[in-house]
Amino acid sequence: MDIKVVKFGGSSLADAKQFQKVAAIIKEDPARRFVVPSAPGKRFSGDDKVTDLLYSCYDHASKGENIDEEFEKIKSRYNDIISELKLDFSLESDFVQIKNAFLCHAGRDFAASRGEYLNGKILAAYLGFPFIDAASVIFFHEDGTFNEKLTNTILGAKLRNLENAVVPGFYGSMPNDTIRTFSRGGSDITGSIVSRAVNADLYENWTDVSGFLMADPRIVSSPKVIRVITYQELRELSYMGATVLHEDAIFPVRFAGIPINIRNTNDPEAPGTMIVPYSKHPDYESKEIITGIAGKKGFCTITLEKGKMNDEVGFGRRVLQVFENHNICFEHLPSGIDTMCVILNNHDLEGIRDMLVNEICQAVEPDSVSVDDNIALIAVVGRGMVKAKGTAYRIFKAIAEADVNIRMIDQGSSEKNIVIGVGEEDFEVAMRAIYSEFAKDNLIR
Ligand code: ASP
Repeated sequence: MDIKVVKFGGSSLADAKQFQKVAAIIKEDPARRFVVPSAPGKRFSGDDKVTDLLYSCYDHASKGENIDEEFEKIKSRYNDIISELKLDFSLESDFVQIKNAFLCHAGRDFAASRGEYLNGKILAAYLGFPFIDAASVIFFHEDGTFNEKLTNTILGAKLRNLENAVVPGFYGSMPNDTIRTFSRGGSDITGSIVSRAVNADLYENWTDVSGFLMADPRIVSSPKVIRVITYQELRELSYMGATVLHEDAIFPVRFAGIPINIRNTNDPEAPGTMIVPYSKHPDYESKEIITGIAGKKGFCTITLEKGKMNDEVGFGRRVLQVFENHNICFEHLPSGIDTMCVILNNHDLEGIRDMLVNEICQAVEPDSVSVDDNIALIAVVGRGMVKAKGTAYRIFKAIAEADVNIRMIDQGSSEKNIVIGVGEEDFEVAMRAIYSEFAKDNLIR
């Protein structure tokens, strides 16, 4: 029988009603054997996420302030779920221990991790599945990076002997047995790690949207849901700001070739989005040219000009060395015969911009250097673009017709993405223009 790992996000487990939906989904398919829960999320707009409450409560405790009221609020989130589900189960002794640990300054990561820990305990009791504390099966190295080898061995061995289990998301343990969390939204990573450890056939990631959208719905109205996307395409789109899944969540499953299915707990019939390792499988081939469009503001360009730059061996290396010395990654590197342009994240240049420009001048003695701010980047991504003719033409025509000036163009050598830089003020208009160009032909799902 297939093995499915199912991860449920915070909104899927925000209250007792959501727990009931989650249990129905799990019970409906016996392949859904291993469950990874998040902490309770928002029940309505303006509500608090339990993880945020935990961080805030811990911060007050570490300043020596009274946390009674805040801690009661956290307790009541869990106690409401327990009583509404009519469970004969109590977290009282855990609450006492956790509150003491807060008062003894047990660490911010420990504090945040309790959101998943406690929710996992309730879910395990509700489903009748064993609860496996993530601290005993998910490990980090001394430097805080994920210890894949040790985790796969211990977690794999543990789950191999179990028919079902609940493993809380978001955290694991350090070599000195303290708790460490992944970055925010990190339960997605735990789901991926568990999938890898049990060699799952499918990793289902249940959330509150019916899949990955073609474009940001805050910019494009009612964008279509992407049915199938490759890991690589997803990487490109998430890097450029599209969020549904944590950016790092694909790595553990990617190498094992395990597909991820994004599903909606509030609309379980919807097929959602399949994230797949490659597009060769007949079900995964793209009939469309564009899979998705994503973008971000907040970039700048540093443009260098120098006569006979193309003859100067090592020019590019010396420029990039300056950024490396400051531990700055560059985003894109479009170049001409005697020009070189480095696209960077504005954020990385804060406070050191003039110094960087000086160092570049010393390193390569350019004829001129200019820094151009307020650039937005738009990535148009699609495995269907490979060998398709006229895609770039259509993108640029759409942007021109929207009266937007293009500041930079970069086509990935994979031919699966075209990145366009526009002024920040033109960002939304350009996004909508590209989307509607392809949507009008029904080339987009
Ligand atoms: N509860 C954590 C957060 O809010 C992790 C997660 O939900 O994935 O970021």
